[in-house]
Amino acid sequence: MSPRQVVLGGAGFVGSHLCDHLLRRGDEVVCVDNFSTGRRSNVAHLVDHLRFTLIQADVSAGLSVQGPVDGVLHLASPASPPDYLARPLETLAVGSEGTRHALELAAQRRARFVLASTSEVYGDPDVHPQTETYWGHVNPVGPRSVYDEAKRFAEALTMAHHRALGTDVGIARIFNTYGPRLRPDDGRVVSNFVLQALRGEPLTVYGDGRQTRSLCYVADEVAGLVALLDADITGPVNLGNPDEHTVLELAERVIALTGSRSAIVHLPLPADDPTRRRPDIALARRALGWEPTTDLESGLARTIASLADVSGLPRPPGLADVRPGSVGGPVGPASTTARGEGPPHA
Ligand code: NAD
Ligand code: UDP
Repeated sequence: MSPRQVVLGGAGFVGSHLCDHLLRRGDEVVCVDNFSTGRRSNVAHLVDHLRFTLIQADVSAGLSVQGPVDGVLHLASPASPPDYLARPLETLAVGSEGTRHALELAAQRRARFVLASTSEVYGDPDVHPQTETYWGHVNPVGPRSVYDEAKRFAEALTMAHHRALGTDVGIARIFNTYGPRLRPDDGRVVSNFVLQALRGEPLTVYGDGRQTRSLCYVADEVAGLVALLDADITGPVNLGNPDEHTVLELAERVIALTGSRSAIVHLPLPADDPTRRRPDIALARRALGWEPTTDLESGLARTIASLADVSGLPRPPGLADVRPGSVGGPVGPASTTARGEGPPHA
């Protein structure tokens, strides 16, 4: 029997690549998503797959999955700042009630639970680079708190489940991740800059652009999540690429790679925007044997090609031959007897 993994938020950007990866290695996958910030098109290539089941459901309302479950990977949550700022109550609900339902499913089936937490738990950090032992510097009442505190609560609930009930858990602190299937309108820095450059519009740098981020290519991030699923470590593990750049450098890199003639304009910095962010990944290297392998240049090239294709824009001449789907190759056998899409609580 193949291991059977339940991926909550599996039709999202990271979740859909995770479904691909798990199917590719032979696992069975149950994807649960309410399509609030994700897209059906992200998993359209999987719905006829023999080992794939798609359930449309809001995990904040409840979670019922029939059959055996070996792993529950909880990625359901708006993740882009404009997305979670537009859905403040839903974001808090999925971090709290959604996480509770996910943990209960894992505990009932004696499955391993992996929480997709975030570098945002460190807030605007006064320790750099961020290690898992750092407790963070978060504004609990600012606009971003709906996301930051939801994830901090989710981490607390995950640890409480583990301590009180012995639930087998792992916590991934995911740092900024990018790649094909980013929603073109999600408002994150990579999708914004790439689309603006491809359209010849000015790139919107918020603030002076000296704030930093460390960008991880999605295939690397997914490999880290799967390593954590397969491991037996509990506490939080940073999963990100320590290659740190200012936002202004990123804008210049995107302009160069697209060959765009776009200018750069500066807009106001959003409230509580972290000034710097870089993961210390010593723990992931040691405990998971994991580290990212994709450099920014090649990751951006695939992302630019993919965003151009899905937006109906011409690819930059230098990226004509880039294969945006080359995140891992084919996912395996399709079937005419696939279970396809189940009822809301199949
Ligand atoms: P995404 O918005 O593309 O994916 C999230 C998915 O969850 C979407 O498909 C959405 O429809 C689904 N979802 C949201 N609320 C739901 C609910 N109540 N019930 C069922 N499904 C629901 O975002 P992403 O970038 O793929 O992020 C995935 C996870 O990783 C999130 O939990 C996010 O917090 C975490 N994360 C991502 C990043 C990043 O840079 N991408 C960084 C840190 C943490
Ligand atoms: N940013 C920017 N221009 C944009 C979108 C984002 O300068 O069009 C900045 C944003 O202020 C932040 C960084 O890029 O400093 C990363 O933003 P993103 O929304 O991708 O993720 P965050 O790390 O803030 O969650």
